This record gives sequence, C-alpha cells and structure tokens, in this order.
Amino acid sequence: MQINVNREKPTCNCGVFGIFGSKNASLETYYGLHALQHRGQEACGIITKSISSKGNPVFTAHKGEGLVTEVFDDHEIFQKKLVGNVAIGHNRYSTTGSSESLKNIQPFIVNYRLGNLAVAHNGNLTNARVIRDELVHEGAIFQTTSDTEVILHLIARSRLDGQVEQIKEAIEKIEGAFSLVLMTDNKLIGARDVNGFRPLVIGKLNDAYIITSETCAFDILSAEFIREVEPGEIVVIDDEVLETGNIKSYRISDLYEKQNHCIFEYIYFSRPDSFIFGHNVDKMRRRLGKVLAKNHPVFNESDEKVIVISVPDSSNTTALGYQTELEKLGVNCKLEIGLIRSHYIGRTFIQPGQINREIGVKIKFNTVKGVLEGRTVVIVDDSIVRGTTSKQLVKLMREANPKSIHLRISSSPITHPCFYGMDFPSKGELIAYNFNSNVKDIADYLGVDSLEYLTIDEMLEAVSEAGKENFCHACFSGEYPTKVDHNFKKEIYEI
Ligand code: SF4
Repeated sequence: MQINVNREKPTCNCGVFGIFGSKNASLETYYGLHALQHRGQEACGIITKSISSKGNPVFTAHKGEGLVTEVFDDHEIFQKKLVGNVAIGHNRYSTTGSSESLKNIQPFIVNYRLGNLAVAHNGNLTNARVIRDELVHEGAIFQTTSDTEVILHLIARSRLDGQVEQIKEAIEKIEGAFSLVLMTDNKLIGARDVNGFRPLVIGKLNDAYIITSETCAFDILSAEFIREVEPGEIVVIDDEVLETGNIKSYRISDLYEKQNHCIFEYIYFSRPDSFIFGHNVDKMRRRLGKVLAKNHPVFNESDEKVIVISVPDSSNTTALGYQTELEKLGVNCKLEIGLIRSHYIGRTFIQPGQINREIGVKIKFNTVKGVLEGRTVVIVDDSIVRGTTSKQLVKLMREANPKSIHLRISSSPITHPCFYGMDFPSKGELIAYNFNSNVKDIADYLGVDSLEYLTIDEMLEAVSEAGKENFCHACFSGEYPTKVDHNFKKEIYEI
C-alpha cells in the first residue's frame, strides 16, 4: 500500500502561476511551480499559448499526477510541446473534485464564443454546488468534478461582449475563496476574492509580467515583486501593459472594510521566505513563536539548559521565535536540532497493518539522541490535526530518554472544517474535537509532560501588524466570515 506520509498536516491548497510576454514562458512556469511545490503535491500542469503558422492562437497542455519534477521530466516538453510566450500553471491537492481523477488536474481549458480560455484556481468556492446544479439543470455538461469548472461555464455563458467583463460577471456570482490566474488568447488575468483568503502577487521578469501565489516563485526566477493583487481586484496584463507598464485593474466590488486572510497561511502553509498579506511570512511565524513563549514558557527547575527543538521543516522559524523570547524571559535555553527529517520520502510503501504504528513517523523523522538525552525538551509545532503523528513522534523521542517533553503549538486547537481550500479530516478525526479541546486530556493522549496551544486572541496578537480583524480563524473558532454550506461534502462531486 502506498501512502503519502506527508499528509498528517492540513492539505488541499494549491499553487498558481502565470506569465505573459516571455519567450521561455513554459520553463519559467515550471520553475515557479517548483518553488510552489509545498502548496500541492498530487498533480500539476502547464498550458501555453502560441501562434500557429496560420496566425491563430493555440493552447497546449501538459499535465500529470505527481511532483513537478516527475510530470515535467523531459526537456523536450519545453522545447517542442509547451512553446509560446504566455503560460499558466497549477500545483494541486484536491479541494472539491476527486483527487484520483486525471480530468481534475488544472489548469482547465475551454474554447468558446470569444476564443480560448484557461484557468488555474487556488481556493474553494462555497456556492459551487448551487451554481453547478443550476447550470446542469439548464443543460450544461461538466467534464470534471472540480468547483473550478463552474467558473469556466459562467464565463462561457455570459452574454457580455468583452472577456474581462465576462470574467467580472462570472466572478461576481461565485462565493468563497479564489485566487485565480486566467489566460485568454491575448491576456493574462489575475483575480482574488473580496475576502482575500488566499494570497496572489504580481511580479516582473525583465519585460514579462507574472501573477502567482507566493513571492518565493519570483525569487527562483530572480523576478521583481511589484505588488499583491488586492482582495476583490481583477488585474489584466496584455501587450499594451508590456508597452506602457500600467497594469489594468478592475474591481469585483467595492473594497471590503476588512479582509479575511487565512491565518493558516502564516502559521503553516506559505513558505517562510514569501511575502504575503503585506508582510514577510518569516516575521509573522517568528512572532507566533515569540507570543507562544511569552504566554506559555517552559522553565527548568534546575539550572540546566532547556532545549528547544522544532518539528522540521514547517515549525523551524516558529521555534526560533520561541527560543529567542524564552531567553528574553531569563530562561537558560538553547535552540537545537533534535529531530532529523528525511527529505526523500515521496510515496512510501507501508504494510496496511503498520499505518498506525511508528513506521510512518520513523520513515520521516529520527531523533538526535545526544541532544535529547537527560534534557528538558520543548518541542515547537505549528498545529495538531489528528494527533496520531504527534503521538508517535513523542514516543520516538522518549526512546532518547529526555528528562521531560513539553509540546508547544503555535495555533489554537482545530475544531471545525475549512470551506476555503484547506483540507482537514472530518470533525470526528480531529483530536481537539474528540477531546472537547481539553488540553490536559490531549496531553495525556500524546504522552507529553505538558502541552499548550496559542489561544485565538494570542494568534491574532501575533499577526496584529497585518490587522487583527483581517484574518479568518474559522477552523479554530467556528466563526465563518461568509455563508457556508455545512452539509457540503466533497464526495458529492466525485464520479
Ligand atoms: S477556516 Fe482555517 S484554514 Fe480555512 S481559511 Fe479560515 S483560517 Fe484558513
């Protein structure tokens, strides 16, 4: 049985990338997707636009299941197949739509009244089921089980004449989370929902323009960051923009007074070297660690050093913030590398009966015994979802004979589902839901000497430079910033 042992963290987000005006558009999209691999590892795809010998625009796609390096494993794909100076690409986990279906791999293309149109989507539409049912009732035939296809149908059915107007009309009908890149016969278009749940940024590479999920995709190309796509904004790049340098901008609706950025992007999901929601992720993640230490320190009764370690790699930055603040509080402490993570896991073979045993965690982690032995150890992690991995990890660490193990979590207990593109298991599988958020009971289950989470107020305090009120925290609080369909099940779409 092949399982993905990386999936103990929240999954199901995606990465999008689009570039306009570069002769190496497909190769640059490949590098961009490579930098965004953390946002989706199940499948990926690139679509390019070139001009045929008869002068007509031609859209060409290459997609497949697996990592970017697996799907694009032959340089001839870039030299002979994906030619043209405009491209969009997508890395995916499944959101709505079966992860098994090849048809659901984005970007999607249609050819309609006004020409070709391709789309790549990060997020999740909360009213997709209602719109889809209406469209099917009116005779629409869907090719995929993904919510993203709804957007293409709405655009293609518009009676308006301009493509930007059609896209604006379609976007005004959809609700929920979307950061989109779209490619038409002569434009690259970016659009972001009014809440700004997911990031979307604009950059420049020589004369070409890029629209993508995170700025780390600029860095791999040495591209320059220009600005973020505003929540509720549509931006258009075309030949005129290449000449004038003035990006065309349209509003989906008036700017909301407040946004609802996904706080999980700062806690765990985005790369620490990215700049999103107006701030460096690294800075916000360190602040989460600092606030965690300030409110939930670990003291050592003797004068021996407290050893702070991270669960690599996602909580490295948070652990750094935690140790810095703990030291400021006067605690004799040191940041150490106590866990080594294997970076070569991929999809690993595990015997069915072994899934819940230590092998899953041992494939991924090992302890540095000399660091842990006889020490008071603080292990900093960003979140606990099911708790099975944390429990196995603690068991593994016990084998190194530490004096005590204290777990500190830089988010609140996850108790509710996300309807905006992050995939948590069902409520019944969430450890915090199962233990009614009773931290003492969770600590006993995990086998740690102490456990502390950030409260929701503490999380918001940590990100307050970006505006406390500008964050969604629904998976911790149950306070959804938009109307959601609580009966929604993604299986509804699966074929
Ligand atoms: S519910 Fe949680 S994961 Fe989903 S957008 Fe809100 S904060 Fe992010």
